[in-house]
Amino acid sequence: MNEEFWDRFRYANAEAALKNFNKFVDEGIILIPDVSEPHLDTIKREVDSYIYLGNIIDILMSSIREQFGLLPSCSKGCAYCCYQAVFITSFEARIIWQWITLQTDSKERIERLKHRLRIWRERIQGSGLTQTVNTYQFKKRYFQARLRCPFLNNDKSCSIYPVRPTPCRTYFSFGNPERCLSNAFVPDTYDGEPWRQIILAMFAFSYESTRYKVPSNVSKLKKEMELLDLLPNAMMKFAFDDSLSSSE
Ligand code: SF4
Repeated sequence: MNEEFWDRFRYANAEAALKNFNKFVDEGIILIPDVSEPHLDTIKREVDSYIYLGNIIDILMSSIREQFGLLPSCSKGCAYCCYQAVFITSFEARIIWQWITLQTDSKERIERLKHRLRIWRERIQGSGLTQTVNTYQFKKRYFQARLRCPFLNNDKSCSIYPVRPTPCRTYFSFGNPERCLSNAFVPDTYDGEPWRQIILAMFAFSYESTRYKVPSNVSKLKKEMELLDLLPNAMMKFAFDDSLSSSE
């Protein structure tokens, strides 16, 4: 695949995202929380909206892949990319945590997840990765450290599949998936940039304007989108801070 191909591919991604925004509105994606509703319903609607958004991202991705003839060669059970550094926004982190707390009435399951997050933190601290300043080097070393995503089940399925973050939805291999076992930067893979960022920003923007019943403002949007943090890092903020573990 040459540069020109990738330029066209990325452009088509962004164009498709923008073209579909009105469709998202019509189909109810931005019917997010109404603050007059009871607390639990509000959280449920927020999570449902994100799941719905995720389905639309999946549909968009498959139409783009079809248009460019990129057939994914990886499938369920191939979890090599779950050892990569996955960066997410604070907005996604909150939705994931809300989904986990809605799904489970078992304190034990939450404690198990906290335990996995603790182990991840210890390994990150012990690996010297936090001293890496260059993003490329960081991703490379993170992959080499074999830090498994805390949400990856032993059978290689994703335990938060319906609300998995957008990088996990848009990344795929169209070459030999085995190459992803030993390399964080495989040429025949695609990460879904930049349009996943555009869609997420639109969603966060609509969400803020509906939730607070005030005109959306850029600083609020920025707050939602500001954190491009590692998935486990972002989740720790929710798992270990009781004041954050429920919706405000
Ligand atoms: S969230 Fe799920 S899909 Fe994404 S890296 Fe973790 S286990 Fe894999």
